[in-house]
Amino acid sequence: MMKRKQVIILWLIINFLSANYTNAQERVNTSKFRRIEEWNTPNAYRTASGAPGFKYFQQRADYKISIVLDDKTQSIAGEEEITYHNLSPDVLTHLWIQLDQNISRENSTARLISKMRMKDTISVEEMSYYFPDFKGGFTISEVVDKSGSNEKYFVNGTMMRLDLKRPLKPGKKYTFKIKWSYSINDRLKYGGRSGYEYFPADDNYLYTIAQFFPRMAVYNDDRGWQTQQFLGQGEFTLPFGDFDVRITVPADFVVGATGELQNASQVLTKEQLKRFSEAKRTFDKPVFIVTPKEALENEKSRSTSTKTWHFRAKNVRDFAFAASRKFIWDAMAVKLGSTTPLAMSFYPKEGNPLWEEYSTRVVAHTLKVYSKYTFDYPYPVAISVHTDRIGMEYPMICFNGGRPRPDGTYSKATKYGMISVIIHEVGHNWFPMIVNSDERQWTWMDEGLNTYLQYLAEQEWEENYPSRRGAARNIVDYMKSDPSTLVPIMTQSESILQFGNNAYGKPATGLNILRETILGRELFDHAFRQYANRWKFKHPTPEDFFRTIEDAVGQDLAWFWRGWFYTTDACDQNLKSVKLYVPQIVHRKENAFEKIESFENLPDEVKNRLSQNEKDLMQTPYFLEISVENKGGLIMPVIVKFTFEDNTSHIVRLPAEVWLKNEKEFSKVFPLDKKPVHVILDPDLETADIDISNNQVDISRSNTFYIFTFKNQAQ
Ligand SMILES: [Zn+2]
Repeated sequence: MMKRKQVIILWLIINFLSANYTNAQERVNTSKFRRIEEWNTPNAYRTASGAPGFKYFQQRADYKISIVLDDKTQSIAGEEEITYHNLSPDVLTHLWIQLDQNISRENSTARLISKMRMKDTISVEEMSYYFPDFKGGFTISEVVDKSGSNEKYFVNGTMMRLDLKRPLKPGKKYTFKIKWSYSINDRLKYGGRSGYEYFPADDNYLYTIAQFFPRMAVYNDDRGWQTQQFLGQGEFTLPFGDFDVRITVPADFVVGATGELQNASQVLTKEQLKRFSEAKRTFDKPVFIVTPKEALENEKSRSTSTKTWHFRAKNVRDFAFAASRKFIWDAMAVKLGSTTPLAMSFYPKEGNPLWEEYSTRVVAHTLKVYSKYTFDYPYPVAISVHTDRIGMEYPMICFNGGRPRPDGTYSKATKYGMISVIIHEVGHNWFPMIVNSDERQWTWMDEGLNTYLQYLAEQEWEENYPSRRGAARNIVDYMKSDPSTLVPIMTQSESILQFGNNAYGKPATGLNILRETILGRELFDHAFRQYANRWKFKHPTPEDFFRTIEDAVGQDLAWFWRGWFYTTDACDQNLKSVKLYVPQIVHRKENAFEKIESFENLPDEVKNRLSQNEKDLMQTPYFLEISVENKGGLIMPVIVKFTFEDNTSHIVRLPAEVWLKNEKEFSKVFPLDKKPVHVILDPDLETADIDISNNQVDISRSNTFYIFTFKNQAQ
């Protein structure tokens, strides 16, 4: 039992605390313009301006890989030597290696957490997607050091920890070897970013192979080892390095891969070699290296011997390849400011006539447009490979859908879908292959930025190109969708809802709004280029992006980052009231006012005391007061269009800072020379306003106000 006195003291304390608590709540700065608390603290690795700091470091991993692709069993076996460079200031006791193929293991986390709901009617194909019989995943047969003695390792899902015999000191490197194999997935049956497609008509396989070897995880200042498991939605995080890869395939296969082919003379015919060098000199149209006729012959052959294709790639974060008997191969050179890469395509006859007409030309176009807005494409080749349905990107090579009907006809949707996916996947060379953000954590950093540039490249491909994403009006349906299906863009990759809209469409639209509506093209293009150049061949974080843009444009954009990236607020501006005022001039005589017919009737000595600006204001025929309410919560500029009785119009653009002191509502007056009859907010649909029914008002009546001057008599 408490004594009475203690009870009173306790009661007083509770009251005091709760009173303080309430006050604290009220007094916290909740301004949407405040700086963003979630941002990491700038340090010697990453500066407050968004640039790499003076102690910035990144690790490096070089690979030597030999693989054999077995077309009979659709499996791969490989041996790799990894040299890991510890360029961090830290001593490492272990290394983390990614085993992404383990996502296809029988009891992988990804499979255990995948969910379906029962419906009245379900196709067995859908069922088998959720209950696959495919048993994939790496078989690791050997992990040894340079001298061949066994390494100690542990596999946890899609991650493998290698316990170093001796700690790896800063500035030192470590070389070890892994032998592995796995069964390739049927991509059309089980899904996946890579795998094979089987063509029953000619009994051939087309392989698009990626995440196919154990790859080093990223270790950096931002989060140490990136240990997020591969669950399927969040993509990849990889250090840069040099690759030397030998791919052994049946002798009648054609192979396209990340990097430059080192032994063309051993894998191509004399005639093909000649065409290859011709392609390197041809800038106006693609040149066949493997012709449709040769591809058709390859389709029918069943070589029992093998060939080894040798590729080297410098300073890339990954390696992928495609192989098939069915490949037609064409290429053309592209002249950029400082580089001359080769745009190439690999496709089976099933891709034609679309692919020979468009693929390589679209690759070339993408290289030009993206280079213009960022930096010249630094790699020697850029390859587009035809697949059914998917679009997936790797350094220098990507796998793209867009297949005509069997009779060779195709819809507009197929054609533009194909052009868009090629632009998009080739564009990924910039984000995230070169500007190497952490995809496992932040999908928007590559998908959003890339979709933004994709929009620009589409619009430059053709006037009125039917772009799906980019324009503000195209994101409105998403912005007003069921709140329980919305999460902020700044949500980790695996937890994103409405994936395409959230991580592609919304960030791309946000950048477009910054460019067109908030900053202007010249300023935004400068800032975007600044970000790309600061972080090319490095690992940026979201803060590095936000800070760099502000640093380059000279403006605090916290309100925009917060609203667009950190919340799900939508823009809904309500034109709450519009009042038209007509001035009545009055002359102040002692303590009384006298109406004056017109400005001219004011006594001369009064008029002479007025400045020109005061004279103009007194003669302005109309003053319009508008009140705008921010119903959606998102801070946005306010664009007001006045239409006058003579049918002319005028647009006033108010910056977002108009909301600084009151984020809910403001009123503002505009002096007008002509009589306004109509006012509308956001007339060109630039702000993704989710309810435009409250954006306009017709003006039918006016009010009178009295205007006078203090200069009515000699001062
Ligand atoms: Zn993408």
